[in-house]
Amino acid sequence: MSVRDVSLAELALHGGEPAVTTPGPHFRWPLITDATREAVLRQLDEAISLYDRSGVIARLEQRLEGELGLPHALLFNTGTSALFAMFVGAGLKAGDEVLCPDYTFFASNSPLFFTGAIPILVDCDRTGNMDPEKARELVTERTRAILVTHLWGVPCDMDPLVELCRERGLLLLEDISHAYGATYNGRLVGTFGDAAALSLQGQKTLTGGEGGVLLTRDDEIFYRALALGHYTKRCLQEIPEGHLLHDYGITGLGLKLRIHPLAAAIAEQQLDTLPAVLAGRRRCARILRRELAAIPGIELPPIPEQADPSWYGLIFHLDRELAARGLAGEVLAALAAEGCAALDHPKITAPVHRFPLFRDPSRVFPGYAPLPEREYPGTEDFFARAWKLPVWHREEDDALVGQYLEAIRKVMHHFIHRESRP
Ligand SMILES: *Cc1c(COP(=O)(O)O)cnc(C)c1O
Repeated sequence: MSVRDVSLAELALHGGEPAVTTPGPHFRWPLITDATREAVLRQLDEAISLYDRSGVIARLEQRLEGELGLPHALLFNTGTSALFAMFVGAGLKAGDEVLCPDYTFFASNSPLFFTGAIPILVDCDRTGNMDPEKARELVTERTRAILVTHLWGVPCDMDPLVELCRERGLLLLEDISHAYGATYNGRLVGTFGDAAALSLQGQKTLTGGEGGVLLTRDDEIFYRALALGHYTKRCLQEIPEGHLLHDYGITGLGLKLRIHPLAAAIAEQQLDTLPAVLAGRRRCARILRRELAAIPGIELPPIPEQADPSWYGLIFHLDRELAARGLAGEVLAALAAEGCAALDHPKITAPVHRFPLFRDPSRVFPGYAPLPEREYPGTEDFFARAWKLPVWHREEDDALVGQYLEAIRKVMHHFIHRESRP
């Protein structure tokens, strides 16, 4: 459609024809196929409760170790549990400071409260991820670790963060829940630091419905994580005799956070289709970014040049001028009226300093203090203007992608045109 056509088209919000005519749902995830059903049925007959590293648990952990090239992958019941195990595994304790992203899904950071360590929230740069310069400014003698999230599958700018950790002797921990398969300098995220954790929840690129994984090259982190969530058999069999935690093997540290074997069977099957999904999403993201960049009123957040994202979602921004006029809500409503049901403004994945848990943990976690007064201009700006599209992986969805782009062109044209008149 030419620009002239777009200018003539009436907004669906005002009674015009919607640009998106494909019936919903527009984005289906996870990919449940006959292969998934067979994997679950096979697992039902094999085992639905596993006490040690055997069967599907062993197969999936070994496969993940192979994919990441790391000696330890340990499955958990959720990503939140895997993150908690990563923090306990890293030996974080009361009073330790951990630099964390302010802009992330809150569960990246929240398990820290159960270790006593203090999350120090770091503002983001224009990529939406932790600003390495601002992280550097917040390092104190109590800082023990930096936790990063590669939000929406876009790798953080790792070179300066790795350098900062090396320089100051800090642990580097990664939440790769959004970013399984993403690379930076050709290297998979999750392999840059001392440990990484990811969620296998139903929305995630690699999913078991629910589940989580801890990845580490560090034996001690692995043993402590085993003790935390895998008492008895796994502790006794996998923590060497003579190690302190072997003595505590029967009880571990007292929690049981194991994944369900059916979830592991689903995740194992999903790994088969993942390379094709990632390739398809990368192709779709190239189209979306190319086309969105050409639409007046839209801005794309930059991506570190060394990064090859996994495109868990694709974020684009309303430009500052239109946002400053308070048009974000109206534009979004116009896009919804055009039929863009899969486009949204992420609300829960928000600057965490806004949540009571981070603003004042002391009311629910005695021993903590309220968050110090600090500004987070980067995360506030990134979040306020952020719209998210799912990234489709099948070429059959190209027509739908085209309709979404058409809807965005039409709506943006209307708002810029209208706004440029008195
Ligand atoms: C989903 C998610 C989590 C939490 O994982 P669960 O499996 O839902 O517990 C943590 N961090 C990020 C970045 C996530 O996307």
